[in-house]
Amino acid sequence: MSESAPIVVVGAGQAGQQLCDSLRRGGYEGRLVLVGDEPVLPYQRPPLSKKFLTGALEAERLLLRPESFYEKANVELRIARRVTAIDRAARTLTLNDGEVLAWSGLALTTGTRIRPLSVPGAAEADVHYVRSLADGEALKARLATAERLAVIGGGFIGLEVAAIARELGKQVVVIEAAERLMARAVAPRVSAFYAELHRAHGVEVLLGTGIEAIRGADGRHVVLTTDGREHAVDLIVAGIGVVPNSELAEAAGLACHNGIVVDVHARTSDPAIVAAGDCTWHMNGFLERDIRLESVQNAVDQAKTAAASLLGRDEPYRQVPWFWSDQYDVKLQIAGIGMPHDEAVLRGDPASRQFSVYYFRAGALVGVDSMNRPAEHMAARKLLGQGIALSPAQAADPAVDLMQIARG
Ligand SMILES: Cc1cc2nc3c(=O)[nH]c(=O)nc-3n(C[C@H](O)[C@H](O)[C@H](O)COP(=O)(O)OP(=O)(O)OC[C@H]3O[C@@H](n4cnc5c(N)ncnc54)[C@H](O)[C@@H]3O)c2cc1C
Repeated sequence: MSESAPIVVVGAGQAGQQLCDSLRRGGYEGRLVLVGDEPVLPYQRPPLSKKFLTGALEAERLLLRPESFYEKANVELRIARRVTAIDRAARTLTLNDGEVLAWSGLALTTGTRIRPLSVPGAAEADVHYVRSLADGEALKARLATAERLAVIGGGFIGLEVAAIARELGKQVVVIEAAERLMARAVAPRVSAFYAELHRAHGVEVLLGTGIEAIRGADGRHVVLTTDGREHAVDLIVAGIGVVPNSELAEAAGLACHNGIVVDVHARTSDPAIVAAGDCTWHMNGFLERDIRLESVQNAVDQAKTAAASLLGRDEPYRQVPWFWSDQYDVKLQIAGIGMPHDEAVLRGDPASRQFSVYYFRAGALVGVDSMNRPAEHMAARKLLGQGIALSPAQAADPAVDLMQIARG
């Protein structure tokens, strides 16, 4: 290992940017290199399925930091460059243009990529996905002229796109294979609320319905569904999940299982290499179990832990997971991980579009979904983070002041 070898961060996204920031804030003064294969500085992805599609937000506004940040922080950028191999014994890595970089510490923040639709006709059809800025730009352009779109997958991203498309006056059909929306993340009560919300806005929501095939191309498509129906549309958007970018780590001999395996200190099976963000299968000290999360909170907080580990500090990752989704005028905020649970308690009236669902497992609070109740979401994060006991009866009783309980 050369003394002057830099710390190299592979993947210029949310976690990669945070790692660079945290390393500098943590006092690291050596060389720091950030490599990213997209032709753009690290940016926020959440607006890509939300406001960005309306044209209300320019691409520059998505950047997490302006170029001057990297200059001031003395981060050497290798943008639009891809790391193709890691040699752990030699402590070097190779870029797609042949450059070989030595490293003294290595961070992998390679994120995920979309899972493509695999039904007959999908490869030939003009199916849009939303992962990158390029995807967002392409979808925004097509939305400008499309009139009727099929959204395949009733998860967060598909539903956010559906909501924006309705705001833009498009006809929308959402096709979801499961019996309810956002089934992996929320309770049936919340799924039902969102199905009603979308229907009230004129979206056709098909549940328990798969895709048989797609016919056509160039903006004239027919989507054949398992209920025997044919949907003629001029735009197809699929949001059916992602897969972690862990092949680089796997080829380097690092332990991988549904992502790059890291411990509570964000260390991979090689202690000189850390990993953070969507690409990790990680131990979360708060949850006391291994999990893979796709959220800004996880990317940011785990990157802070990874930076601390590279600096030889002991800052285990034990933050309460949280997440949000914007659909129409309803902000869903999720604190903790409510799935699986054995009791889901409703607080407030869904008809008012301001309510929460409290999830309990073995009598303990494990997660809270809040619809248009930001103060309650903050209280929930405190209750969970500080392990303050709450009973299902307290959660259900509107007379109980949860903010006060959270304040201790
Ligand atoms: C449309 C959309 C909406 C979302 N909405 C929300 C939301 O409302 N709330 C929320 O909390 N989260 C949301 N998310 C999730 C959130 O954006 C991600 O969890 C977050 O971006 C993860 O950050 P990351 O750094 O782990 O990965 P990424 O941001 O994906 O960054 C990884 C980067 O590494 C690059 N890379 C991969 N391999 C290599 C290589 N070998 N060499 C060089 N570069 C490489 C990738 O191309 C990518 O640029 C959303 C995501 C999307 C796509």
